[in-house]
Amino acid sequence: MRSIGHFIGGKEVKGTSGRTADVYQPMTGDVQAKVALASKDEVRAAVENAKAAQPAWAATNPQRRVRVLMKFLELVARDNEEMAELLAREHGKTIPDARGDIMRGVEVVEFALGIPHLMKGEYTEGAGPGIDLYSIRQPLGVVAGITPFNFPAMIPMWKFAPAIACGNAFILKPSERDPGVPMKLAELMLEAGLPPGILNVVNGDKEAVDAILDDRDISAVGFVGSSSIAQYIYERSAATGKRCQCFGGAKNHLIVMPDADMNQAVDALMGAAYGAAGERCMAVSVAVPVGKTTADRLMEKLIPRVESLKIGPSTDPNADYGPLVTKEALQRVRNYVDVGIKEGATLAVDGRGFKMQGYENGFYMGGCLFDNVTKDMRIYKEEIFGPVLSVVRAHDFDEALSLPSDHEYGNGVAIFTRDGDSAREFAAKVNVGMVGINVPIPVPVAYFSFGGWKRSGFGDLNQYGTDSVRFYTKAKTVTSRWPSGVKEGASFTMPTS
Ligand code: NAD
Repeated sequence: MRSIGHFIGGKEVKGTSGRTADVYQPMTGDVQAKVALASKDEVRAAVENAKAAQPAWAATNPQRRVRVLMKFLELVARDNEEMAELLAREHGKTIPDARGDIMRGVEVVEFALGIPHLMKGEYTEGAGPGIDLYSIRQPLGVVAGITPFNFPAMIPMWKFAPAIACGNAFILKPSERDPGVPMKLAELMLEAGLPPGILNVVNGDKEAVDAILDDRDISAVGFVGSSSIAQYIYERSAATGKRCQCFGGAKNHLIVMPDADMNQAVDALMGAAYGAAGERCMAVSVAVPVGKTTADRLMEKLIPRVESLKIGPSTDPNADYGPLVTKEALQRVRNYVDVGIKEGATLAVDGRGFKMQGYENGFYMGGCLFDNVTKDMRIYKEEIFGPVLSVVRAHDFDEALSLPSDHEYGNGVAIFTRDGDSAREFAAKVNVGMVGINVPIPVPVAYFSFGGWKRSGFGDLNQYGTDSVRFYTKAKTVTSRWPSGVKEGASFTMPTS
């Protein structure tokens, strides 16, 4: 059986903690690899390597740093299919969807090629008598990223590409459920010319995470995962004075106004609710039709579409979605459906009994659709992270606006309408970080930035875009005066301009 270690100091090293976790192949249900779970000492070894390598990397001029990323992009393109297959095999998503996972990471690497421009400082000549003032941006040193299972290519690239372009060394702690692609990305960065020690991957669980959080040589942590862990990481990082940004879970609503193009709205809902088996932080898990007629028309169109979803193994190019990531995830989602029934929601389509012929041990689940879901139900309040869509009927626009605004999560939201006034008012007033207007999964392109509000995001600054440069650098301002022509003498008052 394949065993996966860590990537430290420019090479794969075996785990020494004696602890491992199973990596499943969700489409068959088999264990396909064992991944090492790092101890505190192994994390420390990675930090030592990073710390030793970082000063020379920071001193390398910015164009040379991003040339490594340029070469890395070529290598990702070369090995794209191999990586997409590996990703699909470990995660369960379909191969076309795995290609998208890689591509949305690649877009951020492309953005990072322009970071030398964004690191430029500012300069004011003559800010006072004989005084010039300038600001510069310097890397933080050693920084870390802790990432979730659901985008094992995209989110690691969102983290390490800007950090490394800014001159930092990086410790990546990917999800222990699908560590294969993150390890491969580190190998490709080395092949692209990155000095050993600048990108390290430590595989592991809570023990490795806690070692990262407590390590005083790590200056910043970027986390993506569920909200309770995000909050824990945010709070614990503060104890060692780390800069920290933690992105959490979601409950993304899609509002369907009475004037919406219903076919377009239904297509959008199908892809956004059931794509990747609903295991996306920007998945739509709540549909909000406005008015009874809209709701009835929506349900009439949605039911047959959900019933005819094509579920298949990750290798089936025609499948709409594949299995869930683990047996536990499958059980958790099934339990939520049971809870919804008990709470009194109407289960219009029941996918719990779905079995994939020839893959009976895989972690498959059919699409589920709930109608008449209300605000007080757990299936509305909590993140399910599976192929389950809840329909909450709203009487009017104001109620539709208040649902996502009052929800404890605030990652993404969408409105489908033909009316510019409603769309504009919705975008301005809704209390959510990323808004789509007739767009179901409004993940901003790489030169904007990604981040949710409320319990979907802890800390300051978003991921990628110009925010990532601010997050991975610190600003220094230099006030200078050259002595010639300056009057001598001590001054005891506060200098003013
Ligand atoms: P998770 O919170 O279980 O794990 C995320 C990371 O934290 C992993 O690396 C894991 O090893 C580590 N971890 C898990 N338990 C820990 C603990 N007790 N202490 C310390 N570290 C721990 O999340 P997941 O199941 O891998 O991913 C799914 C979640 O991620 C969903 O909630 C989804 O909405 C969220 N997500 C959010 C975004 C975003 O940008 N907001 C993007 C993708 C996924």
